[in-house]
Amino acid sequence: MNNAVYNFQLPENERIYDYLKGSAERVALDNELKRQATEEVEIPLIINGKEIYTGVTQNVVMPHNHSVVLAKYHMATEKEVKLAIDSAMNAHKVWSNLAWTVRASILLKAAELMATKYRALLSASTMLGQSKNIFQSEIDAVCETIDFLKYNASFASRIYQIQPKSAFSQLNRMEFRALEGFVFAVSPFNFTSIASNLNMAPVMMGNTTVWKPATTAILSNYYLMKIFMEAGLPAGVINFVPGSGPVIGNEVLQSKDLAGIHFTGSNGTFNHLWGTVSQNLPNYKSYPRLVGETGGKDFIFVHPSADAYEVAVNAVRGSFEYQGQKCSASSRMYVPKSLWPSIKKLLVEMAEDIKMGDVMDHKNFMNAVIDNKSYTNIVSYIDYAKSSSEANIIAGGTYDDSVGYFIRPTIIETTNPRFKSMEEEIFGPVLTVFVYEDKDLDRAIELCDTTSPYGLTGAIFGKDRVALASLCDKFRYAAGNFYFNDKPTGAIVGLQPFGGSRASGTNDKAGGEFNLVRWVSPRTIKETFVSPTDYRYPYMME
Ligand code: NAD
Repeated sequence: MNNAVYNFQLPENERIYDYLKGSAERVALDNELKRQATEEVEIPLIINGKEIYTGVTQNVVMPHNHSVVLAKYHMATEKEVKLAIDSAMNAHKVWSNLAWTVRASILLKAAELMATKYRALLSASTMLGQSKNIFQSEIDAVCETIDFLKYNASFASRIYQIQPKSAFSQLNRMEFRALEGFVFAVSPFNFTSIASNLNMAPVMMGNTTVWKPATTAILSNYYLMKIFMEAGLPAGVINFVPGSGPVIGNEVLQSKDLAGIHFTGSNGTFNHLWGTVSQNLPNYKSYPRLVGETGGKDFIFVHPSADAYEVAVNAVRGSFEYQGQKCSASSRMYVPKSLWPSIKKLLVEMAEDIKMGDVMDHKNFMNAVIDNKSYTNIVSYIDYAKSSSEANIIAGGTYDDSVGYFIRPTIIETTNPRFKSMEEEIFGPVLTVFVYEDKDLDRAIELCDTTSPYGLTGAIFGKDRVALASLCDKFRYAAGNFYFNDKPTGAIVGLQPFGGSRASGTNDKAGGEFNLVRWVSPRTIKETFVSPTDYRYPYMME
């Protein structure tokens, strides 16, 4: 019997463990790392709750030690993609009709399993498979994944409470229907939490998904899927379909039942998906909801009143943590000439001091970039800077892929504010700095605002609070997540709702109400108590 209005409180954010040497969590994680590093997992597709082994496989390797195979995964062909769509459509009948509190309880149970029983498993698989250090993995794979699940259950409860007014002799209600069809969840390699949320946000609102995980994050993503199932997620609600993006994408986008795409990844891939949907528009039953968070060319803008030390520390963390492979990573910086000598000295010292290597050595601040393709791409930018008369590499600039895909944290100083590495997303540990004359502050602001097509994150540094207010105003559309005297990375669910604009995506703010409302199609129901008895209106009477 459902006879109560439920209230799911806003949760506390998951506590970030310290992993101090000798602590229970550190011992558990180290044991799990050793276990996973020496086993080879076979990863099937999971469609309608059943494991499918297609026999077409690829290896999952450690990016920081690419000769070590962690897993082999089976790839979908068109046949399995069709099966996954059928399965999602079938599961929709029950799942979308289930009391939302039951759905919420499955999310909350998954969060609890991740916080306890599977904390080490999820973290170790993210560390080994995506080359994250202990802290980066804890804040992503564990804490952010849990926060997304818990906050979404709570935000959903708020959405379900939104109801229209009822006027005289009528009752008005709003029913929050799941979308009519299935959602295509397409996830990137760099955040385990995003992979979870791209599925679980629509799922919370009663939708079912066909999930295409990134091939370079398959190990942790497979464990996510297993945890969802253990938490009680019914068969077919999420269908785990690893494989080639184009093969899966082409098949899915042809389905008349495509009700939405929940995407995070590069701008190019999202544009391709959007373009294909546009071409297929007459074939769909509904207008598919397109929600995509894409790339960034995130900036740090330094005002002459800033503190050099604060700038340098935040620039190093913001640009080089997780090897700069965060959509929010700072990758271009504007510094006034008066402060540059002191900031430069600190930046170079800190960058050269950074330890880089295997994720199992916890002294390392940085690990490897994700794969050979990414390594080659990042190196091409470094080599371009080396050969340019407009740029000077002041830190790093070296790389070595003999064991893992390692690139030293690299800082480029350029005289050209529109230098290639000031404009394009590199997605690696490369920060480019443009030094402006203090008197040209306004021109520097304009350059920063107009140089890249993206608008994801940005940070301003300064002690002059009035000047910061003016900068905040001028950068209104330059970033969807904006920071005062802080690095532009590290947004926390519930505290800094995340998303950009311009070429950075649809800015539906993952982990919040704005995102969740995209996954419902409300039905308004009006009930009239006493019907009129005459078709004519009173003003018509003589
Ligand atoms: P990507 O675009 O290469 O891949 C994303 C996903 O799309 C992968 O699963 C990939 O296999 C899939 N894909 C590729 N082609 C496809 C097709 N034709 N049809 C269907 N799926 C297809 O991105 P990536 O390298 O995994 O991630 C890095 C990018 O993600 C960066 O640009 C980064 O800025 C962005 N990102 C953005 C945010 C954000 O919140 N704005 C967060 C994380 C990452």
